[in-house]
Amino acid sequence: MAGESLRENLDKIKERIDAAARRAGRNGREITLVAVSKTQPAEAILAAFEAGVRHFGENRVQEWEGKRGPVANLAAQWHLVGHLQSNKAARAAGLFHSIDSADDFKLAGRLNRARAEMNSREKLRLLIEVHIAEEATKSGAEIAQVPQLAEAIAGLEHLNLAGLMCVPPYFENPEEVRPYFRALRELRDSVSRTTGLALPVLSMGMSHDFEVAIEEGATEVRIGTALFGARQWK
Ligand SMILES: *Cc1c(COP(=O)(O)O)cnc(C)c1O
Repeated sequence: MAGESLRENLDKIKERIDAAARRAGRNGREITLVAVSKTQPAEAILAAFEAGVRHFGENRVQEWEGKRGPVANLAAQWHLVGHLQSNKAARAAGLFHSIDSADDFKLAGRLNRARAEMNSREKLRLLIEVHIAEEATKSGAEIAQVPQLAEAIAGLEHLNLAGLMCVPPYFENPEEVRPYFRALRELRDSVSRTTGLALPVLSMGMSHDFEVAIEEGATEVRIGTALFGARQWK
């Protein structure tokens, strides 16, 4: 995709973010755009960076390892947004600033240990991915386990547990996904109350439903196709 149409897409997305934030009595500047660049080449990431994007999301460790060379040194934050298997945790801990899809304690423990061994002074940011829709067979921690999991992860020295994330089911009509976004915010509020953890980040909303997510409290939206166009499967 040419840099020009990417810029146009980005401008439109920003306008829509601002408008959705205003509808909710919020400010668009509070909302972080995470550009999900899975299947896109490094050139697309570079073009988005040049257009002002500073957060990028990838869903597979291996894909990111293979293509990060030309962009690894950009002053951007790299997020893993896809499911992470424990056996890839050590690699992921060295490749990303944030794991947005952590869903169990064993995985968090491995990330913590890997970060300790790297002697990194910066903590690895973590979000707990929540299995917010019982009917969908998606990954994520079960709702009932989130309070305990959050407390346990918060005790790990090299991690910064910043909040919650979800990938609800896809609906043609984005209004139908609203209850799931609301449920994630309410879960965050209740976990925060019972554990005393701040958990300021809510990562929810994708290309077709990010406005609803923002109206329900999203602080980060993960946007792929609306920014980069169709995915470039090989
Ligand atoms: C691919 C992906 C996105 C972006 O999806 P789009 O519909 O292209 O915006 C967001 N979050 C996760 C976890 C993804 O895997």
